[in-house]
Amino acid sequence: MINIQRMMLVDNEHLYGPGKRLLTYLKGCSIHCEGCINPHLWSFDGGTPLSSDDILKILLDNNLDGVTLHGGEPLDQADELLKIVKDIKANGKTVILFTGYIKKELTGNRLKIWNLADIVVAGRFQLKKRNVYLQFRGSTNQRVYTHKGKYKNYKLKDGYTTAMFTIDENGDMDVNGFLTEDIAELMKNK
Ligand code: SF4
Repeated sequence: MINIQRMMLVDNEHLYGPGKRLLTYLKGCSIHCEGCINPHLWSFDGGTPLSSDDILKILLDNNLDGVTLHGGEPLDQADELLKIVKDIKANGKTVILFTGYIKKELTGNRLKIWNLADIVVAGRFQLKKRNVYLQFRGSTNQRVYTHKGKYKNYKLKDGYTTAMFTIDENGDMDVNGFLTEDIAELMKNK
């Protein structure tokens, strides 16, 4: 079981990867980058447990391409996450991993997950290198690896930005993506 803050079905290649995907926000991050837009996900307390069976049912029932692992820091739950990633891959679905770590920091189960993922978006968010016009990344130091599988020859599409607005069942609005100044201003006044 992994512990998540929330999950949703998405179809936004620029932010979360190709195809229709299950986007999961894993709870907890030990890295604490300055300027992180998700500090509410740093705590490891609370959250909702999610199993391989739960994920596979959602993937198969909705005919999704795969799972996007976001955070928080997914690799801070590597011991539980590895089995889930293996199960997703064994069912022919793809895994896209967003991590604040770089490869040379990783060993053991963390490295195994990196090697199983179809796309890895890696590295700390660096406020002084922030750029909202990149695909997947929030700062120019972050790197994208399309080292295997279905997306091996994937070409990144930088040069524009995307934001995704969601409204939950309580009518509360949230925004995901890389916020230009005008969108950030809009959100302040929501
Ligand atoms: S690794 Fe990601 S979630 Fe963790 S502090 Fe950095 S940007 Fe935020």
